[in-house]
Amino acid sequence: MPDLKLYNTLTREKVSFVPEDEKNVRMYVCGPTVYDFAHIGNARPVIVFDVLFRLFRHKYGENHVTYVRNITDVDDKINARALRDYPDLPLNEAIRNVTEKTANQFHADVKALGCLEPTHEPRATEYIDGMVSIIQTLLDKDHAYIAEGAQGREVLFRVKSMENYGELSNRMGRLDEQVEGARVAVESHKEHAGDFVLWKQSHDEEPGWSGSFNGETIHGRPGWHIECSAMSEALLGKTFDIHGGGLDLIFPHHENEIAQSCCAHGTDKMASVWMHNGYVQVEGKKMSKSDGNFVTIHDLLHTEKFGGRKWPGEVLRLAMLMTHYREPIDFSVKRLDEAENIIAKLARRVLEADNGDPLAFVSSLMDDVNSSEFISKLNSLSGKPLSDALDLLGVAFSKVEANLDDAAINAAIDERLAYFADKNFAEADRIRDELLEQGIQLKDGKDPETGERVTTWEVKR
Ligand SMILES: [Zn+2]
Repeated sequence: MPDLKLYNTLTREKVSFVPEDEKNVRMYVCGPTVYDFAHIGNARPVIVFDVLFRLFRHKYGENHVTYVRNITDVDDKINARALRDYPDLPLNEAIRNVTEKTANQFHADVKALGCLEPTHEPRATEYIDGMVSIIQTLLDKDHAYIAEGAQGREVLFRVKSMENYGELSNRMGRLDEQVEGARVAVESHKEHAGDFVLWKQSHDEEPGWSGSFNGETIHGRPGWHIECSAMSEALLGKTFDIHGGGLDLIFPHHENEIAQSCCAHGTDKMASVWMHNGYVQVEGKKMSKSDGNFVTIHDLLHTEKFGGRKWPGEVLRLAMLMTHYREPIDFSVKRLDEAENIIAKLARRVLEADNGDPLAFVSSLMDDVNSSEFISKLNSLSGKPLSDALDLLGVAFSKVEANLDDAAINAAIDERLAYFADKNFAEADRIRDELLEQGIQLKDGKDPETGERVTTWEVKR
């Protein structure tokens, strides 16, 4: 098998991937904050890292990969949504309603997109103790301090205490310049404008947990960044192989995760390779609610808001993978039409005789998950090699049996009859099983006059 090469945002180069432990390859990807429907920009990392998960399982074995994708279920946006949607309920109950409903919706969306379930899907609120413990360690090591902010007590990370803070986002040593450039107002309780919240005090109407810091109890809630440091440590250890997410997470989220984890654990890295997928635009424009081009996964799958029709999950998935994950994508009706045409052709060719070697093309995926090149090479495959290749991409055809035309099905039936004539029952059964996977059920009978085998088919429901 060819070497696996991955682009590392931290070193800005493609590197040969060597896991810390081949028996347990570990990957963490930042998951959704559950307060609203996931949009197609959220869908991209879920799909991209699902392909990498499949590739790892292919290379190292299904039981030798641990994939963690969290759910952020404590966040001020969730509180605001709970107050808006359930004004008559106690806040904790309202929050639970919002997070449960949104998490269920997210699961339904990503299942329709053909994504495998991650090994673990931790929820931030279940890891509060781990967060409190990391924060206390940071206080012990002088990487954090407690201050009185406008909204009450805060524990803050001291960015000046870390020599290589800013390395991931290429801001190292330029902290002051960057902060001024971004016109961040210096809040007076902070030592430096870039210092960020690890824990903040909660008031009556806000969710909170009791945290003890330097002997002081602060009823409060965690900052966003500390959540991922705690969940990744608990499930993957102090260091692990891959940390992924969208490009927009590099700064401040991932930069701050590195600062917290490395300073608390005394390690020189959090993850070996940092991977980020590119932005998603819709019809040539940045997605925004006010421009009316804000597209949710749910809308694409279940409504006719985009292009006047519903789109099958596998079409959305292929449309996403037709572009290399680090490039920006322009999501458009044209692109979805193109993906649907490719899928219709592939679905027919899966039924044809075996041809080609899918492993010959795995090299494309091994080269920094080049799914677009991989897809363009599928033209030379058919039969089982093609369906094996599609398994690696996670593109399944469960819902496109309508696209299998009669001619293709009849051709497959003729081929199967020819195998029977040759007494090659294994190949005949393979064709029957593959058609069944496409939702086509074969029925064998005998011609009453000639006694010859006659095969008919029906769409299985
Ligand atoms: Zn994160």
